[in-house]
Amino acid sequence: MSKGKLFIVSGPSGSGKDTILQGVFKKHPEIKLSISSITRAMRVGEVEGEKYHFISRDEFEELLKNDMLLEHNVFVGNYYGTPKAPVEECLNAGGDMILEIDVNGAAQVREKMPDAISIFIMPPSFEVLKNRLSGRGTETEEVVEQRMTAALGEIARAKEYDYIVINDQLDVAIDDLLSIILSERLRINRQKQIIDEVLEKC
Ligand code: 5GP
Repeated sequence: MSKGKLFIVSGPSGSGKDTILQGVFKKHPEIKLSISSITRAMRVGEVEGEKYHFISRDEFEELLKNDMLLEHNVFVGNYYGTPKAPVEECLNAGGDMILEIDVNGAAQVREKMPDAISIFIMPPSFEVLKNRLSGRGTETEEVVEQRMTAALGEIARAKEYDYIVINDQLDVAIDDLLSIILSERLRINRQKQIIDEVLEKC
């Protein structure tokens, strides 16, 4: 069985990447999302284990000490990290997985797994990003400001990615992201085994 493919999806908070990803998983439920371990407080509406495992700083540091994370970063004062084992298990079983992580985490994963495909979700303009962030109402003004600064820094690093998807129209952005994933599945390095199997039967 050929290994699954790893996709990294980044974009500043407020770029709408969560909504795009929901659309992708709805159309293709076989694609798995990596559940990050994070130390940020749970927001209203968030559910433990759905997108994140909410853990303490001590628990996070224990994961780091035991080398159980594929990558990690500190974002606006909190730890965020990708548990290594579920990624390896999914890919080894031939499944495709998406890591929804920030630009620093993405750089670490590219280093360790150069075959990973990275996609940056861009807001159509800074104004739209600002409105989306402040309109969310889930964070204090100070945190919104910090996230804005982080957003500018992230956008400046968008050129490190393999693909850019602009989230101007949600349905188009979902289809764009899916097109990338589906095309990557058809790449020759994933098809070699099938070619061999067909030839063997001739
Ligand atoms: P939020 O607090 O808005 O859910 O996420 C803040 C930022 O952390 C987002 O840019 C998100 O992509 C990123 N993030 C989420 N999980 C991880 C992770 O496991 N590792 C890293 N490096 N970033 C993450």
